[in-house]
Amino acid sequence: MSIRLEQVMYTYGMGTPFEKTALNETNIEIHEGEFIGIIGHTGSGKSTFVQLLNGLLHPTQGTVTVDGIDVGLKTKAAMDMRHKVGMVFQYPEYQLFEETIARDIAFGPRNFGLSEAEIDERVREAMDFVGLDYQTYAERSPFRLSGGQMRRVAIAGVIAIHPEYLILDEPSAGLDPAGRREIFSGIQRWHEEKNITVILVSHNMEDISRMAGRLIVLSQGDIILDGEPLDIFSTQQETLRSAGVAVPPVTEVLQYLQARGFHLNDRVHTMDE
Ligand code: ADP
Repeated sequence: MSIRLEQVMYTYGMGTPFEKTALNETNIEIHEGEFIGIIGHTGSGKSTFVQLLNGLLHPTQGTVTVDGIDVGLKTKAAMDMRHKVGMVFQYPEYQLFEETIARDIAFGPRNFGLSEAEIDERVREAMDFVGLDYQTYAERSPFRLSGGQMRRVAIAGVIAIHPEYLILDEPSAGLDPAGRREIFSGIQRWHEEKNITVILVSHNMEDISRMAGRLIVLSQGDIILDGEPLDIFSTQQETLRSAGVAVPPVTEVLQYLQARGFHLNDRVHTMDE
């Protein structure tokens, strides 16, 4: 099970004076169960890349397959496959529109021909995952919540669809540390318990280094680095800096290494050999 990009390229406004290639030819595979962080300067192609993963954008060249099925096709199998890839956009709270929280979260599952009981079960489960008490919140208006809570409702709406791959584009932008923790604790639990693949676009290196097992760095439409965050932060600081990515201070990298039982001296020693 994987999402695979083969010779994928994406150009906006092809054939117009505004033509802009946002993703150069790319080959990459995202495996089931991975937690991937994606970083890169503004305009490096992050949003374009993640929208190609779930068929929202069709590649100008190449193919995107999800679990072996080409998502660019117009077949039913391809449409079904796209539901396996859930996407939480930036500022997802702007997409809330129903009168109650429960109805908003039920909106996605309602399209799948599920019974009312099954839909209710999905809503309860999704609210539990994002840490919103069903009894307290189900019948409330989503518009009277705090920013962090509104965003959790929006994330619950995507989780209720039961995606196998969950893409999050800057899910914690504009939230305070408490709000960030609220957002991520449910996602991490969902990832660990259901082995769901998470693809997280973020400017927040702390979030990335705490959660991601793999880091992809984009620069001007190219994947310039792809590896363990641990390796990248400790050995690729110069490349990160030249790609315009805010590099975490070395002390943070060290804390991160230590938290994972890794000692920088061991690494230097190994590399010298
Ligand atoms: P990021 O998410 O890293 O900020 P994007 O994928 O949004 O990067 O953008 C990559 C490049 O594509 C940028 O140069 C951006 O200006 C351009 N771009 C993005 N969306 C469009 C669009 N709808 N039309 C034309 N160019 C676009």
